[in-house]
Amino acid sequence: MKFEGKVAVVTGASRGIGRAIAEELGRGGASIVVNYRSGAEAAEQVVQLIQAAGGKAAAHQADVGQVQQAQGLIQFAIDHFGDLQILVNNAGIIRDGLIMTMKEADWDAVLQTNLKATFNCSKAAVRHMIRKRYGRIINITSVAGQMGNPGQTNYSASKAGQIGFTRALAREVGSRNVTVNAVAAGYIDTEIWKDTPQTAIEALLGLIPLGRPGQPEEVAKAVAYLASDDAAYVTGHVLTVDGGMAMH
Ligand code: NAP
Repeated sequence: MKFEGKVAVVTGASRGIGRAIAEELGRGGASIVVNYRSGAEAAEQVVQLIQAAGGKAAAHQADVGQVQQAQGLIQFAIDHFGDLQILVNNAGIIRDGLIMTMKEADWDAVLQTNLKATFNCSKAAVRHMIRKRYGRIINITSVAGQMGNPGQTNYSASKAGQIGFTRALAREVGSRNVTVNAVAAGYIDTEIWKDTPQTAIEALLGLIPLGRPGQPEEVAKAVAYLASDDAAYVTGHVLTVDGGMAMH
């Protein structure tokens, strides 16, 4: 039970990668706040799964792109479970399109949910973590932020932004025993791709040496490592979980 006595907030944990992370940390003994924006029923199911396995969990609705709601989420964790040691900034969206036709609203929505939310939640959590001289922040970024992906200028920019944010914050808070790392996922089989044309999916698969999509649980294992005390001397790192796709 690596996370016994720890409290973790996982943003966007009602499905996909966030759900797998919540379950993985919950299995390790952490008390989990399962954040979601609109999927109340799905989030409640995640809570019940964690509780059925003997863990502690509670769901909390918040659009983490909105600063006050993000602050409310962090405060909920501290009020409900009494502490906060682990923050996983996972909530994310795509609004793909070539730049000539990309709407300003699609640029703004992606930057707000993927990058500003990382700032919003981290700022609120770091205040508490610095005081307690302990913290683990893990940002779920993408290889798209490293290698770029056509049709994803907004998404790639937001994910590259998360990497810069991770490194800058790691330098700011390291002396207070707060580590900040990122996991750069490749093509992981989740609902985020539901509107992506099959031809684009085939093109992505063609770039993967391991020849298959990743599973959310495979990303969750990497997050669990960075959240654990085994990674006490790891900060500012970007751990790639992509079947070899980016390999730079
Ligand atoms: P997903 O299946 O679409 O799940 C996204 C989750 O984020 C949902 O629980 C959604 O909840 C939540 N969410 C979205 N906007 C939110 C907001 N403003 N506030 C709070 N929650 C919000 O996506 P996924 O594939 O698991 O992606 C999770 C993360 O991994 C994202 O940051 C994504 O960029 C990153 N990633 C994914 C892949 C991949 O191939 N799947 C690769 C690299 C990186 P609601 O439905 O309630 O809004």
